[in-house]
Amino acid sequence: VEQCVAEDMARFERTFQGISSRYRLINRIGEGTFSTVYKAEDLLYHRYDNDWDIEEKENSKWSPPSIKRGPFNPQRRKPRYVAIKKIYVTSSPIRIFNELELLHDLKDSDSVCPLITAFRHQDQVIAVLPYFQHRDFREYFRDMTISDMRLYFRSLFTALSSVHRRQILHRDIKPTNFLYNPEQARGVLVDFGLAEREGTDWHMCTCQMSSTERRYKIENSVYAATLPSNPSQPPSYPKNDSRNSRRANRAGTRGFRAPEVLLKCTAQSTSIDMWSAGVILLTMLSRRFPFFHSADDIDALLEITNIFGKKKMRDISLLHGQVFETNIPSYTELGHGFEKIILWCTGRSGRDEQGRKAQLVGEEKEAAQFLERLLECDPSKRITADEALRHPFVARAGE
Ligand code: ADP
Ligand code: MG
Repeated sequence: VEQCVAEDMARFERTFQGISSRYRLINRIGEGTFSTVYKAEDLLYHRYDNDWDIEEKENSKWSPPSIKRGPFNPQRRKPRYVAIKKIYVTSSPIRIFNELELLHDLKDSDSVCPLITAFRHQDQVIAVLPYFQHRDFREYFRDMTISDMRLYFRSLFTALSSVHRRQILHRDIKPTNFLYNPEQARGVLVDFGLAEREGTDWHMCTCQMSSTERRYKIENSVYAATLPSNPSQPPSYPKNDSRNSRRANRAGTRGFRAPEVLLKCTAQSTSIDMWSAGVILLTMLSRRFPFFHSADDIDALLEITNIFGKKKMRDISLLHGQVFETNIPSYTELGHGFEKIILWCTGRSGRDEQGRKAQLVGEEKEAAQFLERLLECDPSKRITADEALRHPFVARAGE
């Protein structure tokens, strides 16, 4: 694996002209469906004091550096680490543009990982973000106390509140897209690759925009400066890009999709992110990750049916103009409720010596009640990020 990563980094440095004079790649830290992310050191940090300031960068032309990697110099300031997100060339230009544009809009929100800058070399686009120290969710979620969960969600809902205030839906809330540092009880949201403005009709967008227009958009994007490139190699783009850039109203990650997304409701709102946050809380309380394992959307609906029961599923389907029908006998009419599911997942579903059933009490009970407000099937009744911040479960974080 290490060999592979080294080869991949070498290839990246070779093909993305000019990158190695500006950044020193350190490691590969993420590999997703749409990108590869590397940790790197910004070699020009000590030269550009105002580099963090995106406004300033936008208007100034960056000139080729002449930096030699010298021996370790103790006089030098602390290195600045960045995350370089190499967006796959198979992603459509409109998707890339969308991500960079939304990140730029959110630059004043301190719980959203800001975009430092972006570069393009031929058809390859990279986004440069400050490196955020965080821990892998799978390492710590099993040991979280209810107090830890309160702090985690205070941070997540602070971020979501600032995103939703701008009428932006993140669409892909899940632990790998919220980089959380448990020691500081602070996290940042990343990955706006699927994000969109409320009310966007993506189907219209992608159908009406010709590939020339799409190219025009990314080439003229104010954020995508080109690294000095060899003039003998003009940028090349796929000539007839007829790929469907995405199926917007179902985008997201399996297991985190809200019922209205699974039911293909066209008017989706910021409340879909609150459902996904609820799935994270359910994961923590049940100590199971991933909680849902569905292979497809139908499977996912059935997993939800198991919790809520057939009646609720029929009702919410009607809400979105769909008819829900299942003949699988194991699903009950009224479902099980979260308390029972949490007890069952944590091995407490048996009875005690007196034959009494276990129950959630105190803080854990409060957490389960809060969970019900997040995993509310009707999006219009689901709690919003601002309401969640005022809910006792979150408002009392850190007390
Ligand atoms: P993708 O679209 O491929 O999912 P992400 O933006 O979610 O890309 O990044 C993938 C992974 O890279 C993240 O889950 C995280 O582990 C790491 N990562 C991304 N941005 C940063 C950052 N600013 N600081 C530290 N790690 C990051
Ligand atoms: Mg991601």
